[in-house]
Amino acid sequence: MTGTAPVPFTADDYKARMDRAARQAADAGLAGVLVAPGPDLVWLTGYAPPAVTERLTLLVLAANREPVLVVPTLEAPDAEKATGAPALALRDWTDGKDPYALTAALLDDRGRFGVSDNAWALHLLGLQQALPKTSYVSLTEALPMLRAVKDAAELERLAAAGAAADAAFEEIRNVRFSGRRESEVAADLAALLRRFGHSQVDFTIVASGPNGANPHHEAGDRRIERGDMVVLDFGGLKDGYGSDTSRTVHVGEPTEEERRVHDLVREAQEAGFRAVRPGAACQDVDRAARAVIDGAGYGEYFIHRTGHGIGVTTHEPPYMIEGEERPLVPGMCFSVEPGVYLPGRFGVRIEDIVTVTEDGGRRLNDTERGMVIVD
Ligand code: ZN
Ligand code: ZN
Ligand code: ZN
Repeated sequence: MTGTAPVPFTADDYKARMDRAARQAADAGLAGVLVAPGPDLVWLTGYAPPAVTERLTLLVLAANREPVLVVPTLEAPDAEKATGAPALALRDWTDGKDPYALTAALLDDRGRFGVSDNAWALHLLGLQQALPKTSYVSLTEALPMLRAVKDAAELERLAAAGAAADAAFEEIRNVRFSGRRESEVAADLAALLRRFGHSQVDFTIVASGPNGANPHHEAGDRRIERGDMVVLDFGGLKDGYGSDTSRTVHVGEPTEEERRVHDLVREAQEAGFRAVRPGAACQDVDRAARAVIDGAGYGEYFIHRTGHGIGVTTHEPPYMIEGEERPLVPGMCFSVEPGVYLPGRFGVRIEDIVTVTEDGGRRLNDTERGMVIVD
């Protein structure tokens, strides 16, 4: 099952995004935005080069001028096929020519520019050398909310990715856990995500027993035993948009304490979800979830932020973290994923992707949040 393909984005969609970026850059006092191959370029133009190499490819956006894509001549035919290409001027450069001089001619020579986070230092240094009076700031720092508010077509993709991840969970809860290695269950999860339409698997965390107390444990050689709690956290991209969900299952009957901690995290996740509404601050979601865990005396064991945005990547702004005062806006999508991590013993994390609606929040994951018992 891969579901039906979503309605494709159009050249107009990409033009609107490029206009938005140029406008936001001007509002932020920037002379423009420079975008290297990666998620920002895909989101803005629909273009992903066949391979990212040392040859410069760079989108230049500035207010009051046509967007320009600087591209190696040998890749220009691919770039021309991008859906957003009609809204762009292509400037190609051949091997032996200086791409920085070509790009510099497009830029305000004293400007401050937002640069996509994954631009290579090689290219930024080349530009700085060509235009010594320019300065640069990370795009995520300068325009953190550029991709944060999703339109209807994006939300549809995120919902479909969430449903596919949920379908993977419904299958994995029925496989055998005890006696198998974490890495084997992780491989099952990856195969399921692909079976349900993911083109890319970003992570398949299977953290059993004491490994569950490390939120970044991926999956290793440990053999899962009866009595283990197992944190499952998995996601990737389907039709260009991300999924990311966590459930914590138990192999056989849990102890009273394991149940209590699982119930606590579930309650915290529910509280975080209920705090989602337009105008609330991002930090309010974190505070709501954290208050529940603090109140039960487990505050010191909740060692990460409550959530992160998701879109064409599986981790991006906005962040649900203390100190993030920016308001929630309808169309934003992010995780609500509190956890409790007891060193040397076990961990619990429960995570749904949530989107902000006009009057609250809507979950894009909806599998069982109570403790699921596996074999
Ligand atoms: Zn147990
Ligand atoms: Zn996750
Ligand atoms: Zn997450």
